[in-house]
Amino acid sequence: MTEWVAPIPAPDLAVAAALAFRSWFGVGPDGVWSAPGRVNLIGEHVDYAGGLSLPIALPHRTAVAVRGRADGVLRVRSGADRWDGTVAEVAPGAPGGWAGYLAGVAWAMRREGLLPDDFGADVTVVSAVPIGAGLSSSAALECALAIAVADLVGLTTDDTGRARLAGCCVAAENEIVGAPTGGLDQAIALRATAGHALLVDSGDGSVAPVPVDLEAEGLAVLVIDTRAPHRLVDGQYAERRRSVEASAERLGVPSLRAADASDVARLADRTLRRRAGHVVTEIARVRGTVALMASGRVAEIGPLLTASHVSLRDDFEVSCTELDSAVDAALAAGALGARMTGGGFGGSAIALVEESAIGRVAAAVASAAATRGLVTPGFLLAGAGGGPAHRIG
Ligand code: ADP
Ligand code: MG
Repeated sequence: MTEWVAPIPAPDLAVAAALAFRSWFGVGPDGVWSAPGRVNLIGEHVDYAGGLSLPIALPHRTAVAVRGRADGVLRVRSGADRWDGTVAEVAPGAPGGWAGYLAGVAWAMRREGLLPDDFGADVTVVSAVPIGAGLSSSAALECALAIAVADLVGLTTDDTGRARLAGCCVAAENEIVGAPTGGLDQAIALRATAGHALLVDSGDGSVAPVPVDLEAEGLAVLVIDTRAPHRLVDGQYAERRRSVEASAERLGVPSLRAADASDVARLADRTLRRRAGHVVTEIARVRGTVALMASGRVAEIGPLLTASHVSLRDDFEVSCTELDSAVDAALAAGALGARMTGGGFGGSAIALVEESAIGRVAAAVASAAATRGLVTPGFLLAGAGGGPAHRIG
């Protein structure tokens, strides 16, 4: 049996969030806004090297129902959880946990001078994005609130305005929650174009939509949430980041974006050579993927996805048993390409599959996990690329 995680259609999500709002607060919200989760097609562990990534917005979204208030009070609700406070009292680590993602957005927008001093809000959350699966439920949550607040106070929400909001969401996650996130997730959640993947350039912060019409090609991106138990990997992320920065320093370049394979070969340290080698080859694979997609040859990107996995597994060393099992089983069952996606050490993998093979590939991945005694994975389908954060009700 394969377990599918379905998206919630926008009208249902809007009704669910508004109903939750009414039952918590006794009145209706001013409106409901949503933002998408995302899956990164390719371009992993290159953001902090000024590199290129190619995420796609999922049809799975997080909605917030919001009612503005003019007394600086924040009341946020998700499921049975609640936090009450004021925007003025938000600080690093306070509130801790999930409420920090929401309170942090209001805090960061106020620091940027985007909100009146007395800004407050009541907020309820309803989400179809799997949490902690590497599909960016955290950015979906932040960005849904950011666009809601922007609309409520009348900020411009053109791409420049959205880029600024994305910066506030990154600040919320880095400074209030204390999670090291590079900005990729917030860029796609706020700046996606429907029907497109988004080429995110972490070197200069620019984005460019890349058309992706998988359905027209009879293809789908199967997302495999391994549900791997959380591991203590904080130190690993920092270590990889240090290696990448140290490599750039030894090569005398501002970031590895400016390096090529011959530069990498000059690194004396074998570990640095492998880490930097991943970054340089991964950026090249992103360029190759974009070139194929831009010329309508998306069916041919499979080998680039698989090469990305091999590089992340063997040279960057951020994969794990669950991810390798999912990738190997998907490829053996006929996927055109497969790779881990996200930071690694758990989370999700993707497989590019022909539509007719979706069920077979998913069954093979689930069966491989069962055979190895791994936790049962969940499956999602990434469609043609969802739209960015916007008002839905
Ligand atoms: P990911 O972004 O890959 O899902 P993170 O660890 O970055 O994983 O973010 C997950 C955290 O975001 C959760 O532990 C929770 O604190 C917060 N979060 C995400 N979605 C929700 C939600 N619907 N309700 C409350 N908190 C949420
Ligand atoms: Mg996250």
